[in-house]
Amino acid sequence: MSRDAGTALTLGILGGGQLAQMLALAALPLGVRCVVLEPDPLAPARLCAEHICAPYTDPAGLERLAQCSAVTLEFENVPVAATTLLEGRLPLRPAPAVLHLSRHRGREKTALEAAGARVAAYRLIETESDLAGALAAVGGQGFLKTAELGYDGHGQARVDTEAGLLAAWNKLGGVPCVLEGLVAFVREVSLGVARGPDGHVSFGPLTENVHVNGILRRSVYPASSGPETQAQARSLARAVVEAWEVVGLITLEFFELPGADGKGGEGGELIVNEVAPRVHNSGHLTQDGGGLSQFEAAVRCALGLPLQDFLPIHPCGMVNILGREDGGEPDWAALDSVPGTHLHLYHKASRPGRKLGHVNVVARTREEVLDGLDAVERILYP
Ligand code: AMP
Repeated sequence: MSRDAGTALTLGILGGGQLAQMLALAALPLGVRCVVLEPDPLAPARLCAEHICAPYTDPAGLERLAQCSAVTLEFENVPVAATTLLEGRLPLRPAPAVLHLSRHRGREKTALEAAGARVAAYRLIETESDLAGALAAVGGQGFLKTAELGYDGHGQARVDTEAGLLAAWNKLGGVPCVLEGLVAFVREVSLGVARGPDGHVSFGPLTENVHVNGILRRSVYPASSGPETQAQARSLARAVVEAWEVVGLITLEFFELPGADGKGGEGGELIVNEVAPRVHNSGHLTQDGGGLSQFEAAVRCALGLPLQDFLPIHPCGMVNILGREDGGEPDWAALDSVPGTHLHLYHKASRPGRKLGHVNVVARTREEVLDGLDAVERILYP
């Protein structure tokens, strides 16, 4: 494939948010230009990609994407009508069959179990009659989550009584849900994995993640999981991409159970929480860790370009910047003065809780990274 300026490879992206922005920024140095289909006129990716400002199902917009070398996506809820129009015309990576699994929590869990992965105890709640006995069946406490369209803690509720379960289901609109048992994890970790068109599998870093109110607050690499758990994460990720015949990059989020020492030391077993069929917030630290970034890996994988593991060389971490309740801005100068920080802003209007950017921290040791992340969090979340 030629990569000179006249015949540059082009990558179509369904969605034009910050993930598309960072994919497009990673694509340019590879000789790849991106075209995003995104209805929001102020979408972050407009600044660094050709922006088709139209609905995801717009026939003319999809026709433009169909002229690209390949198409990928930055969110899993792409309308089926959009992918149907593109399917068979050019490589869609990941394929619609993968999106079909990952967009529905029930289908996803069944497919994960079929691939040999363990998931939390769960019950499908489709009608009110499914509520009877469901909480006891998953261990008496859990999370009720809408089967589709949940994100960042939206579309889910913590439940610990039968009455609370009914109230939560009504509050979620009585839509199909999955009731998951509460997992007593020692930590949350995630792993990006890419499978090329030739079947070659490449891994990203296992990152350790902390969520606050269901939203990712920080990620750290390396994770403190032991080597057996790290190996387990890779073998589960490989099993999933092979069983689901994924071509493209996906991210698995795990709950790590306590290990033999009861503290999550050596051998903590992994339960898959969910699968994102795309680059993931927990992988943003790969932008500054000195190795290949998850964004470059996703671009390469979508276009069938050679791909290695996308692992940081240095210990690193990330803290998300969320819009504040008072609409105010963080102390930028203070952030810049923390050693090893790299700022990534998405050029989005501030709204409370909205992801506006992130700060990566790189240092010589994991302890120094943790100190840096603590300092960044004290500035962002005083
Ligand atoms: P999710 O949107 O499913 O990734 O959930 C957001 C966050 O809520 C997770 O990262 C966990 O911190 C917490 N959470 C979700 N499901 C469970 C569960 N079954 N047990 C314990 N914590 C959970």
